[in-house]
Amino acid sequence: MLIDSHCHINSEDLRTQAAEVVSRAAEAGVEKMIIVGCDLDDSREAVELAHEFNFFASVGIHPHEAKRYTGITEEFYKLIRDERVIAVGEIGLDYHYDLSPRDVQTEIFECQLKFAEENNMPVILHIREAMDDAMKILREHRNLKLLFHCYAGGLKFLDEVLEMGGLCAFGGALTWKGKASDELREVFRRTPNDRILLETDCPYMAPAPLRGKTNEPAFIKFVYERAAQEKNLTLEELETIIEKNFENFFREKI
Ligand SMILES: [Zn+2]
Ligand SMILES: [Zn+2]
Repeated sequence: MLIDSHCHINSEDLRTQAAEVVSRAAEAGVEKMIIVGCDLDDSREAVELAHEFNFFASVGIHPHEAKRYTGITEEFYKLIRDERVIAVGEIGLDYHYDLSPRDVQTEIFECQLKFAEENNMPVILHIREAMDDAMKILREHRNLKLLFHCYAGGLKFLDEVLEMGGLCAFGGALTWKGKASDELREVFRRTPNDRILLETDCPYMAPAPLRGKTNEPAFIKFVYERAAQEKNLTLEELETIIEKNFENFFREKI
């Protein structure tokens, strides 16, 4: 069984053809996925699609969207109680694009960490070029279960992330050519097997043979293949490891 722990089939690019996307995923062996929300409407669609296709959803405000919010609205409290919702996310800090002012990103990030605590939910983190600041905040929330989506903290932060009990999710970048991906592969190899998940982050981040195309959950198989190679595991061994990690991390929710 393949698991895509982070996808956006609720995005504009994919939702109009969600049924086809899901059936191609099933053909590729994908049995579980988390459909991730980036703002209120997007989270609502994630939950709807999760019901329609029997997957999981997460709800949250992406740092890019933080400027449109002053806090968690009542609708988020309704959504978080939905049986298909298993995490708050994706939330965090993004200093690469800086699409929301940094102080606003911080405020919305912090209030969503509290929201996750109140609701006893794991969090799916999006942190880009902001690890120092994000870790400062996360150190104040030791009781939360942390999933570092598209982990980009390098070896520099890996030990602390592991010590906090975090999981690191890796995607298409693991398959790309180039120095940044070489470094990412080293981080991946050094992340213990019981702390990894794999993801597409579709429609973005398509893996190597399809780089530049619209990504979709079926393409997670290319990420699995490269990941197995890097870890010297058979595909079957890796599938078992990922499934166990997923079930263990979300065990109170699934
Ligand atoms: Zn992200
Ligand atoms: Zn995402």
